Amino acid sequence: MKKVNSNSRRDFMKFLGLGSLAAVVPTVSSAATIPHVVVVGGGFAGATCAKYLKMWGGTSVDVTVIEANATYVSPILSNLVLNGQKTTSDLSFTYGSYSSKYGINMLHSTVNAVDKTNQILTLANGNRVKYDKLLLAPGIDFIKTNDYDITKVPHAWKAGKQTNLLKAQIDAMQDGDTFTMTIPSAPYRCPPGPYERACVVADYLKNTKGHTNSKVVVLDANSKIIVEEETFAAKFTEYGVEYKASTTVTNVDDTSKTVTYTEAGSSKTLASTVLNVIPNQKAAPVIFTAGVNSGNWAPINPLSYESVVASGIYVIGDSQATGQPKAGHIGNSEAKICADAILRTLNGQALYTSPKTNSACYSPTSATEASWLTGVFKYDVDTQTMVSANGASGASSTANYPKMFNWSGNLFADTFA
Ligand SMILES: Cc1cc2nc3c(=O)[nH]c(=O)nc-3n(C[C@H](O)[C@H](O)[C@H](O)COP(=O)(O)OP(=O)(O)OC[C@H]3O[C@@H](n4cnc5c(N)ncnc54)[C@H](O)[C@@H]3O)c2cc1C
Repeated sequence: MKKVNSNSRRDFMKFLGLGSLAAVVPTVSSAATIPHVVVVGGGFAGATCAKYLKMWGGTSVDVTVIEANATYVSPILSNLVLNGQKTTSDLSFTYGSYSSKYGINMLHSTVNAVDKTNQILTLANGNRVKYDKLLLAPGIDFIKTNDYDITKVPHAWKAGKQTNLLKAQIDAMQDGDTFTMTIPSAPYRCPPGPYERACVVADYLKNTKGHTNSKVVVLDANSKIIVEEETFAAKFTEYGVEYKASTTVTNVDDTSKTVTYTEAGSSKTLASTVLNVIPNQKAAPVIFTAGVNSGNWAPINPLSYESVVASGIYVIGDSQATGQPKAGHIGNSEAKICADAILRTLNGQALYTSPKTNSACYSPTSATEASWLTGVFKYDVDTQTMVSANGASGASSTANYPKMFNWSGNLFADTFA
């Protein structure tokens, strides 16, 4: 527990500013103890959890969010930057009013080391932060086939500079040029996202830029379109997207803009004007630094999101290893289960035993149409896992397009406002 007095916030900030390990225990001047929960990552999962910890825990808990960037750019809706329907500014969130409204301490730096024995984090700026409970919500990292320059071959799967880079490359295309994208092996961030991107780009080239001779090629590592198959297959036919399933990328050359891949046992190389390689994915680096991974992801107890590898450390969002999709909406949902579980544990109460989570993805398929997909997951006592309880999808339509912004507006507000 972090010992506090009436000047707790000032002492806390001073404590954070001290670089030596000997200085990490603040002065004790009162008997009051307030547990300190530190959240690493201020995205959909982490920002939601910190907010609900304070909303539900009030002054009984001290919450600090450590986020590498001062501005968060939402990957959700970022495919609409590519066709000019949104800008990255439209999708940007800062933390000033969020942190003051809920009384959350906000630090902007990267967590580089996790000392589990002493419960101390070391930040890139040299500061050290002590925690009682640690929540890791750091998102994803990429598994590249080889060392190539992502400013020449952008993934645009984390939003921001990468998104604007890909948009500039698409805008520079001439009629007859080719856009090639690769889809990673599942599990990856946002199952419908790559198929949605292929549709948005194909529609933009054909219907906005008037490129009747340009081509969109999709190389999918999976054996088929993994979600909303009917919807995306119909759109691919409508736009003339060339779709190849079961393709494994083996090399990317950023100079010749070529991708080498295997298909049905033979190796092929394809040159493209714009190459958008979305690599295979794994949990973000801090999951490995903290040693809470098993393979590429972090296994957790779905009743609490506490790591099954290290007690007192929780993992939510894209880094966790349940079968739930890696998506912002469900990260927001997991965050509330986790906030409740942390507060119950701090209060010596039993965990809630029937958690449910839900997920929604709206996929723009053009500048005027969107489809949608939802899923509900519930805890299964026998297998002690989250299992699918329900799901539905809606075909691409113009009626869905404005509903997409109602849905995203609610999610953004529930996370960052
Ligand atoms: C094109 C596209 C469309 C999408 N559409 C949808 C959709 O319709 N619906 C949906 O639900 N989801 C969608 N998603 C997926 C969604 O964006 C992600 O699943 C979501 O962002 C994951 O949230 P997260 O909090 O786990 O990770 P992130 O949003 O990546 O947040 C992690 C944060 O942690 C920070 N961080 C990482 N490591 C450290 C460290 N060591 N120290 C400090 N900070 C650190 C990062 O800077 C980052 O801000 C889409 C994604 C894409 C790419």
